Amino acid sequence: MRYHNITTDDMLNGDGLRTVLWVAGCTHCCQGCHNPITWDIDGGIEFDEAAEQELFEKIAPDYINGVTFSGGDPLHPKNRDMVTELAKKCREKFPNKTIWLYTGYTFEEIKDLEVVSLCDVIVDGEFILAQRDPKLHWKGSSNQRVIDVRETIRLKKIVLFD
Ligand code: SF4
Repeated sequence: MRYHNITTDDMLNGDGLRTVLWVAGCTHCCQGCHNPITWDIDGGIEFDEAAEQELFEKIAPDYINGVTFSGGDPLHPKNRDMVTELAKKCREKFPNKTIWLYTGYTFEEIKDLEVVSLCDVIVDGEFILAQRDPKLHWKGSSNQRVIDVRETIRLKKIVLFD
């Protein structure tokens, strides 16, 4: 897997202060995408052991609420295995922190992937420019959903986080 950046103290991509992994690769090509530089699956740099270490070090501080996987699309078919492994490691290392994931796929398209059950919140769906609303929390357009994954799995119906 390749990635572009690991940012921290982020307040826009999930609840509280978060560390965000911005992976490379997205096939959704949404008009008005804020981050088209991340579309190329061969863009960015290799996510190697040093990058993994950096990610964990930036998640570790007590004031960081958790990790957010974004991009690009963490669920691009070529990113899924690595993001799943990272989510597992985060669960083990940081059991009291939350995992958020942004994807251009709908929840219905990805609900059976192993990584889904490792996440607390998934923000799903492509960005639709005509439905853009800057007042929305944690998402860019009103078609997207901020999904409480645990409650959604438990109740077998979509439960929104906000
Ligand atoms: S899914 Fe996200 S990263 Fe991919 S094109 Fe759409 S807005 Fe951009």
